[in-house]
Amino acid sequence: MFEREREELVERLSRWGYLTKPEIVKAFKKVPRHEFVPPNVRDYSYADQPLPIGHGQTISAPSMIAIMMESLDLAPMQRVLEIGAGSGYNAALIAEVVGKEGEIVTIERIAELAEFAEENLKRTGYGWVKVTVGDGTCGYKKGAPWDRILVTACAPELPKPLVEQLKVGGKLGAPVGQHYMFQTWVVAEKRGEKELKIQERGGCSFVPLIGKCGWKEEG
Ligand code: SAH
Repeated sequence: MFEREREELVERLSRWGYLTKPEIVKAFKKVPRHEFVPPNVRDYSYADQPLPIGHGQTISAPSMIAIMMESLDLAPMQRVLEIGAGSGYNAALIAEVVGKEGEIVTIERIAELAEFAEENLKRTGYGWVKVTVGDGTCGYKKGAPWDRILVTACAPELPKPLVEQLKVGGKLGAPVGQHYMFQTWVVAEKRGEKELKIQERGGCSFVPLIGKCGWKEEG
């Protein structure tokens, strides 16, 4: 199901310049996005738009996910931490690139979504990705240091624990900025214990990263 739609999406994202790296193109061709979204929006799985996944959260548009994935130089055997499991789709794409010799832990703040992500990952053959419930702004110390850290919700600044838990030589990608507007996709490369090279890669719009080193919970 949806094979042709998925092929066409990959073709469009390649033509528009979002997808360039063969290993990322391969992952987008393989991972069934429609298995990661709720039934009511399934028909829009291969449109280039964000989709609601419940609990006020969204799965990013494929072009945005392509920008994130391409900016991190993902490679086989890497150990990757994702903050914001959501649907599990992004984690599945990462899994395709790093392979089973790699390791992926994805943290989700909302327990129901963590369960949703876990079910989706298991059903599609990525059951080896570890989904855990918690505040991802504190990172995941047990598995540190990480080769790559990908943050899929927006914080006012790069959470310090994540920078600390990054391997020297490792890369962290995160949206940084205000709620919904004026956000920038930032790639930080850890050049030394205290040296961070920061690159800004253009505007974006993500749901807020809520936690100890992110936004405070409302109410
Ligand atoms: N990567 C996801 C997109 C998820 S949207 C996917 O592929 O579907 C961002 C997610 O980050 C939301 O599910 C939200 O609940 C979660 N989130 C927000 N703050 C968080 C935090 N401090 N720790 C972990 N997850 C968080």
